[in-house]
Amino acid sequence: MFNTLSDRLSESFKSLRGKGKLSEADIDATAREIRLALLEADVALPVVKDFVGAVKERARGAEVSGALNPAQQVIKIVNEELITILGGETRRLRFAKNPPTVIMLAGLQGAGKTTLAAKLALWLKAQDKSPMLVAADLQRPNAVQQLQVNGERAGVTVFAPEPGNGVGDPVSVARAGVEEARRTLHDVVIIDTAGRLGIDEELMAQAAGIRDAVNPDEVLFVVDAMIGQDAVNTAQAFLDGVGYDGVVLTKLDGDARGGAALSIAKMTGKPVMFASNGEKLTDFDLFHPDRMASRILD
Ligand code: GDP
Repeated sequence: MFNTLSDRLSESFKSLRGKGKLSEADIDATAREIRLALLEADVALPVVKDFVGAVKERARGAEVSGALNPAQQVIKIVNEELITILGGETRRLRFAKNPPTVIMLAGLQGAGKTTLAAKLALWLKAQDKSPMLVAADLQRPNAVQQLQVNGERAGVTVFAPEPGNGVGDPVSVARAGVEEARRTLHDVVIIDTAGRLGIDEELMAQAAGIRDAVNPDEVLFVVDAMIGQDAVNTAQAFLDGVGYDGVVLTKLDGDARGGAALSIAKMTGKPVMFASNGEKLTDFDLFHPDRMASRILD
């Protein structure tokens, strides 16, 4: 995803090689290159401005002595600033003191929520948790069945509404799912909710209704990193309409330019917690800002 950005950034450091000292002109020229590289990668403009401003300021104040030459010094600063905009520390899931921990997924249709639900469940199972999936996406035809299939692949229980059992609306399904998890001693409940192709009020109201009914420990906003700048707009709309604690970036294996991944934490003030990078259930992990920064600067 970050190939072009990586190439452009390493290109922008080239002119600094062999320099004994950073001049103001060197810093300006490099900052301009970095700015262009980020803009071309679709990073949101306010993020680019802050980023370049911080790099320039720090480069000006950088110590010339020491083990690092000017090029290495600038790379170190860019690395640290990348980690900062990506959210700094890895943010881990918070588990409830009294199980079950309730995790609600929200996001647009096609973002990868249903897939993510199963990936997260498998990942939790590997940590000796006993997750249960709840199919509260009653909007998209096949969503319930898809969650059941994915749940089976992950080897986890799926709670789904059955015709005639009295749980017909998503809020009731979510509530009944949490109750069922408590009764059957599952310690984590992951609730898959409906998305639409675009933002609409009914979607937000439904997600907010589920949130109010089950009082989740974590609401995760799931977003397709391939949709570029739109990811940031969608993230903001969900933040206003539903609210969430963290972001999951999906489809990081794609060939989009990566700007969404670089903008979203800074623009929303919410950490990216997980990254999904493929269609296999194991293509999933905690999001590590430092590793992502290293990958970009590799
Ligand atoms: P939902 O509508 O939000 O529940 O989205 P789905 O889970 O149905 O995912 C939509 C499509 O994206 C499916 O074809 C998934 O296989 C695919 N998908 C989900 N996550 C990833 C990912 O990380 N990488 C890739 N390449 N495809 C993904």
